[in-house]
Amino acid sequence: TVPVLTIDGPSGAGKGAVSARVAGHLGWNVLDSGAVYRSVALAALEADVDLTDEAALVELCSQVDLEFFAGPEGIEASLGGRPLGDALRAEAVGEASSRVAAVPVVRAALLSLQRRFRRPPGLVADGRDMGTVVFPDATVKVFLDASVEERARRRYRQLKENGEDVTFDRLLSDLEARDRRDRERAVSPTVAAADAVVVDSTDLSLVEVVERVVAIVGD
Ligand code: C5P
Repeated sequence: TVPVLTIDGPSGAGKGAVSARVAGHLGWNVLDSGAVYRSVALAALEADVDLTDEAALVELCSQVDLEFFAGPEGIEASLGGRPLGDALRAEAVGEASSRVAAVPVVRAALLSLQRRFRRPPGLVADGRDMGTVVFPDATVKVFLDASVEERARRRYRQLKENGEDVTFDRLLSDLEARDRRDRERAVSPTVAAADAVVVDSTDLSLVEVVERVVAIVGD
């Protein structure tokens, strides 16, 4: 079977950058499952779909046709051939995606799409439930964590670079709210798989985290 490395953890722990670099190092494919939920959310916002309309959301899921490739800045996505660029990263899309992701029928509708990314020579899967639900038989499972303050600082710098008008306090409280929703939801809560290796990146640089994850895969 095709090997899978799952990298799960809360928002802003650095999963995207770490996944892209580790995938580049191994020559493996990448799945940014957050971008899958963000794409559904973006499509819903663009089509003015009510985020509580489960049937309409499931219909949107069937239209999502995503490709990922490891770019210099992390994982980049295109939807139906249209490069999504920074649109997926907008705070409003992140907020909407966490609501969409809490709907059980949406998660179920996106399972096979995500599993199709398991192609030779291997897959690095980035998300919340990669090791627990989508790829429970993964070869190696990492849970990447960091303090909420450090994650808010990183997200703040990232959004400022994209020219978004945000305050740090607002981001911190949004992140805390999203953490709570992701951690306490009934389906696929963000928790480490029993067989995951926990890596705390609060005081580590990106390069140090990548080295650590590559070493875990090599063990
Ligand atoms: O990681 P990212 O911020 O891009 O994810 C956006 C949202 O998608 C998260 O807040 C989370 O609620 C949801 N998500 C999820 N399961 C995944 C990946 C992301 O529920 N595997």
